[in-house]
Amino acid sequence: MNPPLKRVRVVLLTQAIGPLDYRLPDGMNAKPGCVVMVPLGPRKLPGVIWDEDIFGDDTVDAKKLRNVLELVECPPIGMGLRRLVDWVADYYLTQHSAVLRMVLASSAAFTTSGTITEYRRTGLEPARLTPQRAAALDALEGAQGLVRELAAEAGVSDNIIRGLIKAGAFEPVTISVDTPFPEALPDFAAPQLNAAQQTAADAMTSAVREGSFTTFVLDGVTGSGKTETYFEAVAEALRQEKQILVLLPEIALTQPFLKRFEERFGVEPATWHSNMRSTQRRRVWRAIADGSAKVLVGARSALFLPFANPGLIIVDEAHETSFKQEDGVRYHARDVAVMRGRFEGFPVVLASATPALESRHMVAIGRYKGLEIPSRFGAAKMPEIKAIDLTVDAPERQHWIAPTLLKALEERLDRGEQSLLFLNRRGYAPLTLCRTCGHRFQCPNCTSWMVEHRLVRRLACHHCGHVMPPPEECPECGEADTLVACGPGVERISDEVNRLLPEARTIVATSDTLWSPEKAAEFVARVESKAVDIIIGTQLVTKGYHFPELTLVGVIDADLGLEGGDLRAAERTFQQIAQAAGRAGRGEKPGEVFIQTRNPNHPVIAALVAGDRDAFYDAETEQRKSAGAPPFGRFAAIIISSEDEREAIEAARAIGAAAPQADGMYIYGPAPAPLAMLRGRYRQRLLVHAQRSVEMQAIIREWLGGIQFPRSVRVGVDVDPYSFL
Ligand code: ADP
Ligand code: ZN
Repeated sequence: MNPPLKRVRVVLLTQAIGPLDYRLPDGMNAKPGCVVMVPLGPRKLPGVIWDEDIFGDDTVDAKKLRNVLELVECPPIGMGLRRLVDWVADYYLTQHSAVLRMVLASSAAFTTSGTITEYRRTGLEPARLTPQRAAALDALEGAQGLVRELAAEAGVSDNIIRGLIKAGAFEPVTISVDTPFPEALPDFAAPQLNAAQQTAADAMTSAVREGSFTTFVLDGVTGSGKTETYFEAVAEALRQEKQILVLLPEIALTQPFLKRFEERFGVEPATWHSNMRSTQRRRVWRAIADGSAKVLVGARSALFLPFANPGLIIVDEAHETSFKQEDGVRYHARDVAVMRGRFEGFPVVLASATPALESRHMVAIGRYKGLEIPSRFGAAKMPEIKAIDLTVDAPERQHWIAPTLLKALEERLDRGEQSLLFLNRRGYAPLTLCRTCGHRFQCPNCTSWMVEHRLVRRLACHHCGHVMPPPEECPECGEADTLVACGPGVERISDEVNRLLPEARTIVATSDTLWSPEKAAEFVARVESKAVDIIIGTQLVTKGYHFPELTLVGVIDADLGLEGGDLRAAERTFQQIAQAAGRAGRGEKPGEVFIQTRNPNHPVIAALVAGDRDAFYDAETEQRKSAGAPPFGRFAAIIISSEDEREAIEAARAIGAAAPQADGMYIYGPAPAPLAMLRGRYRQRLLVHAQRSVEMQAIIREWLGGIQFPRSVRVGVDVDPYSFL
């Protein structure tokens, strides 16, 4: 008798190819989750063996099956993670392959473990010493790295380094990419928690110990010690020999966090973010997959890594909208983290001083568990918050700092304390126009104004990155020196401060100036050493930082975020200002916050001034409820784009014409998207609004699946959108 046919279903990592069936050759022992190489036409492609029942019946004739070519040597993708991939593909209307690519993180899984060769100086001088060689030798005293890294460090070409290796001035050093990560020690430097912290920590540690799925919303005011508190849950997971993932919203935040982690646990954790070198990537991927790296701190993409033995996920600053991925697979890392805990059976902690309305709602209906730390740690008090009515207490013409705020800045300078001015606008001015003809500088690729960045002498588009030098004359009317900057960005506020308070030492802190972990660390060091009096920053500096000598926060334009009025405008403004205010008075000296506004009676401003968070959340919740907006109803945006405007419009019309009817579901559009052009593509949009009971994704899948589009048209669905542009 013939042995039974061993047929396997494989999800290829290649986009636009559904799962395919293959034959497992004799002697190859593979089960769902195994990573394999399979043939497709003449090509050899990577894929993962998937559970047969996920995609319905197969139809391929057994005789036509081709053999799996090889089994990749790496731990199989576990069942819990496979179910998460199914869920993400299903919920966010995307393909398994797209999600799996995040799990296998480019080629990290396929490059088998091994060694790489780095080089270092031998001390020998080459016989022929050109000026370049001499410079390289000088610059690389004590250095070690790949040829390309050494060349970059010394500022010479790769060939110079290769020549020096040949001449014996450098020698090879073999490095194992499997160098293990040092073990974090759960009891290295445990703090004494206060009562509220201890209660919250106990709830989390027992869930870790039980290994049960619970979602905690760790809701503590700024400076209450949320980090110290969830570190106790991390310690417990370490004692249980489980792995821990800490998700942070901004890569700029990791450096101070790593330092803090090391102080508590004795070693730095492994990290994961998008601009890692491939050897680092491979080392971390392997160590996560084989379970040897216990703690990983990372950006949202770390969420899909194949943890061997996960026991806890912390989402820090969980209200941050940067956890929502806006291209590729459009997912929300906070929500996916919760699903991962559910599929793999461990607790998930969402930590924030200003939880998302959605998270608070889940606590209210009993799905998540709320843990509160109501006051700041130690002697620190919450800052006093006051509104400055700009219609009464007005800055001078072409100035943005009101007299009251200026006076408060002066007082801090006199006392040697630090201040933060918050304005969520990068650059010098958001709009440049010609005084003579009114011409406005617009991006050639996008529906957006070019933003002046005076420090680097450029006009830049914040959507596509297009840059141009500021022209001497207006391209429209040809007049020279007629361009004027309209409105302020952080650079302009910095100019104003330098003019009004020339003795103040200022620093501009935005993603333009703090673009790498190193730059961020440098910034922290400068502020901590008191080499800075006034920080002028965007939302980037409103999170996480702990500067005890900072006692004043000024919000330059509180009304900015309330304009435009998308669904979450009020909530986001509230969160941003509360977080900015949360930087004041974290040490022993009390903090003071001024919010500049033209609408001091706006509910958001009034709640901030009154310190009445619940009043704001309650009113906002009521409003969402009556509008059927999240978390009470759901949205999905369908974005159609093409380089050809007519083609985009036609595709959008075809989608609109085929719109299904369902009870409790409304479809708006198609219409040009508010951002009608982006990176040279014309954009049309439809918005689906549905009650929670509607099976929105299934309806959309069937609807769009029935329409054919030209290849040059892109149709993307954004489920639970955060951006309405
Ligand atoms: P949050 O994350 O809630 O804003 P942090 O965790 O940054 O607050 O804590 C604020 C400051 O108080 C930090 O310097 C932290 O080290 C300190 N702190 C908080 N809890 C404790 C504790 N139990 N023992 C010692 N220091 C603490
Ligand atoms: Zn642009």
